[in-house]
Amino acid sequence: MSDGFTAEELHREAVVIDAHCDTVRLFNAINTPYHFGQRNNVGHLDLPRLIEGGVKIQFFALYVEQEYKTCAALKRTLILMEHFLHEMGKHTGSVKVIKSWHDLEEALADGKLGAIFALEGAEALENVEILHILYRLGLRSVGLTWNERNMLADGVGAGRNPGGLTALGREMVREMNQLGILVDAAHLAPRGFCELLTESSLPVIVTHANAAGICCHKRNLSDDQLRLLRDNEGVVGLTFYPPFIADSAACGIESLLDHFCYIAERFGVSILGLGSDYDGISTVVTGLDDVSMLPNLTAALLRRGFSSQEVREILGENFLRVIKKNLEQGGR
Ligand SMILES: [Zn+2]
Repeated sequence: MSDGFTAEELHREAVVIDAHCDTVRLFNAINTPYHFGQRNNVGHLDLPRLIEGGVKIQFFALYVEQEYKTCAALKRTLILMEHFLHEMGKHTGSVKVIKSWHDLEEALADGKLGAIFALEGAEALENVEILHILYRLGLRSVGLTWNERNMLADGVGAGRNPGGLTALGREMVREMNQLGILVDAAHLAPRGFCELLTESSLPVIVTHANAAGICCHKRNLSDDQLRLLRDNEGVVGLTFYPPFIADSAACGIESLLDHFCYIAERFGVSILGLGSDYDGISTVVTGLDDVSMLPNLTAALLRRGFSSQEVREILGENFLRVIKKNLEQGGR
């Protein structure tokens, strides 16, 4: 119990937002018996399990596979986008694709899952016209890079000493700010991260990463990066991938909680959110085996001493703040 709520009650009434999943890759997968509208034995996430897990807003990332990145990134992005829109279109009674702040409010009021179309790695964005057409199709969140280099910036795995944003990268960030597309700094190398937070006129998001101060992985954020993110009034979705949580093989929910506590103590609760990376990860945290188990996280946060208001902020209100600032910009 906390402030008169049970953990379960608190979880059900909270606006739970998951800022990253890779489930779109399952939507049209050959030889995979997966159906988004049904409960599946494969994957971590589908409509019944999202509802069970109390998720209100889910980011769906499109990831262009390695073999398409250099020669057919845009074409592949459009095909994946069609898979996403087709699947969402089959469930309009229970899902709404979010293109504006008004859409988001409507989805919450109608008790529908709000789906945000996101790109993980912007290989398709060769120029601003392509950004604009993808925006028209519903794109509202863009991760500039995956781990390698592209035309916009260097990812964390781009050689020994990765660089920052390119001129095109800066131009795209300004354009995304204009349109109200959320800019996602996950996977971006430290120099680009710093440059992005200077360049962006709106708060940015890091959809899936943890604290390097606890688990020294190049995908995690250093204290300096977390400080910049706090000053930018951005938010980071802490991620459920065991190699980004702890060095040991066995990884339970308490190890993930260490990251929430570490960041909250040093940089405040207001930069914390969730970014599961479900369906993009090969191993899971025990107790968060799939999205239906998210209420376990709320219970664990309360056990660690977060107040019910802090838990609401972590579960989604912090992301809502940043999403609102960005989407409202686009509505002008
Ligand atoms: Zn990723």
